[in-house]
Amino acid sequence: MQSWQIGDVTITQLVELTFEGLDAFLPDATPEAVLPIDWLKPDFITPEGVLRFSIHALVIETPTKRIIVDTCVGNDKPRETFPDWHMLQTSFLDDLKSAGFTPESFDVVLCTHLHLDHVGWNTTLINGEWQPTFPNARYLIERTEFDYVHDEAEADDVEQWLKDSNRAVLADSITPVMAAGLVDLVTNQHQICEEVCLIPTPGHTIGHVSVSIESKGELALITGDFVHHPCQLAHPEWSVTTDYDPAQSVTTRETIFSDLADSPRLVIGTHWPVPTAGLVVREGNVYRLKY
Ligand SMILES: [Zn+2]
Repeated sequence: MQSWQIGDVTITQLVELTFEGLDAFLPDATPEAVLPIDWLKPDFITPEGVLRFSIHALVIETPTKRIIVDTCVGNDKPRETFPDWHMLQTSFLDDLKSAGFTPESFDVVLCTHLHLDHVGWNTTLINGEWQPTFPNARYLIERTEFDYVHDEAEADDVEQWLKDSNRAVLADSITPVMAAGLVDLVTNQHQICEEVCLIPTPGHTIGHVSVSIESKGELALITGDFVHHPCQLAHPEWSVTTDYDPAQSVTTRETIFSDLADSPRLVIGTHWPVPTAGLVVREGNVYRLKY
């Protein structure tokens, strides 16, 4: 289990699952295109040039708050549009408890956006009902993101699979925590506590946020999905097919990578496999991860 110390703040990674592939999702990242990027080997791509990914939650412990960022796919969730994740069963919740993080001990649940692999463990199926997994936490959701997903589930001009996916996510992972009175709709620059705040990183979704951590002069950033794979540091122009606004997503990557390259901020990737984190440095007109 990896963890990182940022001043007084500890960040711990809880992996739900890892996988290889997704070439249909990031179509520019062909083996021919990624194999020449030497620093991706051997951790971030296979010897054949297939991308490696991880789905994990990140637990942030500050002197005053225990926060979980993104709650993965979850168990027992009907996800017909993503067969690999349909009715998933993993030991994620037991792993979380074994690591000393009881669900009752969390103060805050933060979803960087409302896609199915970021909200799943918001709830747990108990006696046939979806119950909040973290009963004492405030669940923070960026306000425009919440409104959009709500509207998109009903909109006429949205593709049917996306509508179905959003409806399923709302029904089993968002509505039950709303009904329990645990949701706070927040702005894209919300300050969670002294050391932790949100920063806007729109494009992948309309209200997408990343998480900034600062303590005793040390800095970190949890990406969320404004970047999915480290290869996008070498190609910020590569967007995933599920981006809400691909042009905005490129602009966000270029802006944030440029800021990061001038700073000692540790970047922790939400879908980056082990080693998951590093420093962004310039390489010509683009970037690489130093780790
Ligand atoms: Zn994701």
